[in-house]
Amino acid sequence: MWLFAAYLSYTSFDTGRRELEQTLLAAAKTQMGAIEREIAGKESALTALATSPSLDRRDFAAFRVQAEQVARQAGAVNIVLLGMNGEQVVNSLRPIGQPLPTEPPPFFAKVMESHRLVVSDLFIGPVTHQPLVSLAIPVMRDGRVIHVLCLSLDATHLAPFVHGDTPSISWVGALMDSTDTIVARRREPEKYVGQKGAAEVLTAIHAQPSGVFESTSLEGTKILAAFSRSPLCGWTLVVAVPRAVLEAKPRRALLLSLAGGTGLFLFTALSAWLLWRSFVSSERARERSRLLLQHASDGVHILDTTGMIIEASDSFCHMLGYGHDEVIGMDVGQWEARMIPDEWGAIIARQLQGGEAITFETRHRRKNGSVFDAEVSCQRLKLDNHQVLYCASRDITERKRAEATLKSANRELEQFAYIASHDLREPLRMISSYIALLGRRYGEVLNEEARDFLGFATEGAKRMDRMVLDLLEFSRVGRMSDPFAPVPLEEIVATAIANLKVAIDENAAEITVAADLPTVTGSHGELVRLLQNLIGNALKYRDPNRSPVVTISARRDERAWVVAVDDNGIGIAPDYFERIFDIFQRLHTRDKYEGTGIGLAVCRRIVEYHGGRIWVESNPGIGSTFLFTLPDGGATPDHGA
Ligand code: ADP
Repeated sequence: MWLFAAYLSYTSFDTGRRELEQTLLAAAKTQMGAIEREIAGKESALTALATSPSLDRRDFAAFRVQAEQVARQAGAVNIVLLGMNGEQVVNSLRPIGQPLPTEPPPFFAKVMESHRLVVSDLFIGPVTHQPLVSLAIPVMRDGRVIHVLCLSLDATHLAPFVHGDTPSISWVGALMDSTDTIVARRREPEKYVGQKGAAEVLTAIHAQPSGVFESTSLEGTKILAAFSRSPLCGWTLVVAVPRAVLEAKPRRALLLSLAGGTGLFLFTALSAWLLWRSFVSSERARERSRLLLQHASDGVHILDTTGMIIEASDSFCHMLGYGHDEVIGMDVGQWEARMIPDEWGAIIARQLQGGEAITFETRHRRKNGSVFDAEVSCQRLKLDNHQVLYCASRDITERKRAEATLKSANRELEQFAYIASHDLREPLRMISSYIALLGRRYGEVLNEEARDFLGFATEGAKRMDRMVLDLLEFSRVGRMSDPFAPVPLEEIVATAIANLKVAIDENAAEITVAADLPTVTGSHGELVRLLQNLIGNALKYRDPNRSPVVTISARRDERAWVVAVDDNGIGIAPDYFERIFDIFQRLHTRDKYEGTGIGLAVCRRIVEYHGGRIWVESNPGIGSTFLFTLPDGGATPDHGA
C-alpha cells in the first residue's frame, strides 16, 4: 500500500518536475525573446535617429531635441551621441552647452570595432548615477563611423520582461548581463541589481545557451531554474521556482496517497476482518447447520426453487441409499414415487409464494428402486438471502403397517361386536322368554323366594340385553354412519334437544344454545348422537338441589372448532376424568343413576371418528364441561380404536 503511495508520489514528482522544467524553459526563452524584441525596437528607433540630417549639419541642438523625443517615446533614460573618442557630444538630458562626460563608455570600443549594435552590460550612468544598460549603434556616413549613438535604459525598464507572464508569485527570475551582473530581478531588485549572480547559478548557465538546472539562489533558496541566453546581447534570463514548490505537489500527492493508502489499508483491513468474521460466523453457522442436519432424525433436505437439493442430512441420504455427494443436485423427481412432476411442482410453487407449512404423505423411491411410504413436511425458508424449501421426510413404513394392523383389528372388533351383540341377543331372548314362561306357568306353585329369584334373573337378562344393545350401538359408529358432509351445528343441537324434549321438560332444564355455532363437517347422525349423549348426561347427572342449566357453545381453535357442553350438575372428581370415557365404566350404582356406562365411550368413538378428541373439565358439586374438537374438513374414517 505504502509502496504504492511512494510510487504514486514518485511518479507525481517525476511527472511534475518534467512539466515544470518545460514550463520554466519555455518561459525563459519567451521572456528572453521579448527582451530581444524590445532591444530590436529600440535599435530601430536609434537607427532612425541616426539618419537624422541634423547630424550631417552638425546641428546638435536640433539633434538633441529629436533625441529627447525618441528617448521619451522609447521610455529610455536618455540618448547620448558620442564623438569619435567616446566623449559625449549630445546628451538628451542635458541642454546644449552644459559640460558632458568625456570618458568613453565601456561598450564604445566594441561598437567602433563591430560596427553594429552593441548592448552594454549594466553600468552606473555617469549623469543619472543609476544602473543603466545602453544600446549603442554606430552612426555611419559614407561607410565610416562618424558617431556612436546610444540609448540608455534604466535597468528597471527591463524588470517587466523578467516577470513576464510567470504564473505564480513563487516564481523568481533575473536578467544578467554578459558579465553575470544582475540587470533586473523579480524579487528585491533594489538589493540584488548590480550584484553578480550566485556562483552556482553562473556555473550552470555558462555550460550552454539554454537549459535547466538545480541550484541555490542568492537568498540561499533551493531552486529549479531554466535559463536562456541571447546571442544578440549575451544576456541571460533565468527563471526559477523554489524546489519546495516542486516537492509540494508530490508531497501533497504522497500525503494524499499515504492518507488514501492508509485509509484504503484500514478499509481493506476492516473489510478483511469483517469478511473473516462473517466467514467464521457463517462457517460456524454452516457447521451448526451441518451438525443439525447430520443429527436430524428426519430426512432433512433443502431444495432450491427448481426443486434441486442443495443440502441434505445424513439421515435423508441414508433413507434413500445415496451418498451425500450423490444427493446434492438431485431433483425431486428422482426420489418421488407417487406424485407426478406437476404435483410436486405445484407444492414447491405454493410454498415459495408464501403458503403455510404443509405436511403430506407420499412415497419415496430408494436408489435400489424399492419404494416406501413417507411423510413430508415442507416449509419456505430464507437461507443466505435465497428462498429455499426446507423439507423433512420421515419413513412411515412402520406407522403405516401399525395403522393397517390397527385398522384390521378394528374391523375385526367391530365385526366381533356386531356379531356378538346380534348373536348374543338370540340366546338372551331365549333366556328371558323361558324365565317369563316359568313365571307364568309355575308362578303360583313357587314360593316368595323363588319368585324373587325369577325376578332377578329377568332383570339380569334385561340388563344384559341393554348392554348388548349398547355394544351394538358402539360397534356401529363409523360402520353405519351417514357420509361426511357440512352440517350446521345449530341444526345438530336442535335435533338432539328435540330428541330429549321429555327429559328436558321433566327436569325443568334451561338449555342455552350459543348463537354463533359453526357449520362443521361430519356425519349428521353421529353428531346428533354425540350431542344427545352429552346433553342427556347433563340432565341425568343433575344436582338434585337446582334446576339443570345446560349451555352449548363453540369457539375457534387454531385448526378446529371446540364445542363445549357445560352443566351445573354434580360434577366429576378429577381422578375419573379419563376413566369415564372407557366402555362400561360408571361412577354410580344403578339404583342411583340408570345406565350402562357406554354413553361417553360412544361419544369418544364418534369424536375420534371425526378426527377430534374429547375431554372433561369439572368441579365436583359445581358442574362439568365436556369439550370436543371437530377439525376443519372432518377426518379420515380410519381413526379411532
Ligand atoms: P352412563 O351415563 O350410562 O353411566 P356414561 O358413559 O354416559 O355412562 O357416563 C359415564 C359416567 O360418567 C357416568 O356414570 C357418570 O358418573 C359420569 N358422568 C357422565 N356425564 C356426567 C355429567 N354431565 N356430570 C357428572 N357426571 C357425569
